[in-house]
Parts: sequence; structure tokens; C-alpha cells
Amino acid sequence: MTTQNLASNLAAVKLHIANIEQQHQRNSGEVCLIAVSKTRSVQEIRILAEQGQIHFGENYVQESIDKMAEFTDIQLIWHFIGPIQKNKTKLIAENFSWVHCVERELVAIRLNNQRPPVLPALNICLQINIDNEDSKSGITPGELLPLAKTIQQLPNLKLRGLMAIPSVTQEFEQQSVAFQKMADLLSELQQNDLDVDTLSMGMSNDFEAAIAFGSTMVRIGTAIFGPRDYS
Ligand SMILES: *Cc1c(COP(=O)(O)O)cnc(C)c1O
Repeated sequence: MTTQNLASNLAAVKLHIANIEQQHQRNSGEVCLIAVSKTRSVQEIRILAEQGQIHFGENYVQESIDKMAEFTDIQLIWHFIGPIQKNKTKLIAENFSWVHCVERELVAIRLNNQRPPVLPALNICLQINIDNEDSKSGITPGELLPLAKTIQQLPNLKLRGLMAIPSVTQEFEQQSVAFQKMADLLSELQQNDLDVDTLSMGMSNDFEAAIAFGSTMVRIGTAIFGPRDYS
């Protein structure tokens, strides 16, 4: 995609987010935009970075580490948003600021033990399988509180909140059901004295509903970069 197209897509998404914040009585600038750059080139990421985009989301460990090596001149914040294989936790702990898809205590403990002590605590979101789909990762709401309490005690991790990928639908009303459940789960954690502030929810086709129901981080790929090509 050309520089101009990428820059104008980014500007359009940011404007759209700002309008939705206003429409749904959210504070202006409250929603963080993560540009999901999996399968996208270093050049494309650089164009966005030059437009002021700081947060990038990646799904594949080796691909993302190769890309990060090209950005030693500029301070970007990298979010790991893909499924976590146990043998990749060290690379994730060493290279990312955020991990959005933690669902197992074992993985959390490995991330904690492998986080270099010189780095700030690794920000963690727990992935909830909010529509209870066999095809999706994530814990059930019933598993949430015990896992959250365990993670809160790990010194090199900072539990920030929850993440979900709801089942795909174009209907705002239907999208809202899952996002409302997520907002309720976050309040439940807060009522249990867990210090959490993050709802990572909303992708290209559902970020309006996500923001309406309290999202604080949207993860957007296609609306910025166009359709992905996995070939
Ligand atoms: C790919 C991906 C996204 C971005 O999806 P788009 O529909 O392209 O905006 C967001 N979150 C996760 C976890 C992803 O894997």
C-alpha cells in the first residue's frame, strides 16, 4: 500500500475512534489504538510510525522479532496478541511490553520467570472465550478470578485486564452482548480488589460496539492496512 493510502487510512481510523468516543460519552483519547501489523512489512510499519503511531500488535514471535530489529532508532510499543506456545515464552518475555492472550497459569509463570529484571513488569491481559466457542482460545468466566489472583502475585508481570475475540457478526446489537459481558467481568475483578484497567477488545469490524461498551484498547489491522495476504 502506498504511503499516502496508509497515512489516510490511519487518520480515518483515528477520527472514527474519536467520533465514537464522543458519541458514547467516553473520554477523548481514552481508547488506545493498536495497529495490528502481522504479515505487514517493515516499510509499512515505518510509514505508520512516522505518522505518530506507537502501538503495534503482532501474532507470530519470530516474524515480530525480525521486524523489531529494524526499529532500534524509534521507540515503539509492541503487543503480543497471538496464541502463545510454551517454547516461545522467553522470546515474548524479552521483547514485548504487553501480552494480550494469557490463558494458562503455566504460561504466566514462565513469562514471569523469563522477564528480564531490567525491564518494567510485562503487562498482561487474560483472554476470555466470551462466546464459548470451541475454535477460540481463552478461559471461561468461571476460571477468571483464580487465574487473575495468581498472576497478581507474580512480581515481573502486571495484570492489566481482559481481552476477547468475540464470534464474528456484523450486527451491533449482537456484538454488544459479548462486549457488555466483558465489561461486567472487568468490574467483577475490580470489586475483588484486583487493580485492573484494561479491556482489549474491538477489531476492524466491531470496534464501534467495543468502544461503546468500555474498550480501552482496540486492535485494528484490516481497516488500516487493507486485507491481509497470507500467501
Ligand atoms: C489479526 C488480529 C486482529 C486484527 O484484525 P482485523 O480484523 O484485521 O482488524 C485483532 N486481534 C487479533 C487477536 C488478531 O489476531
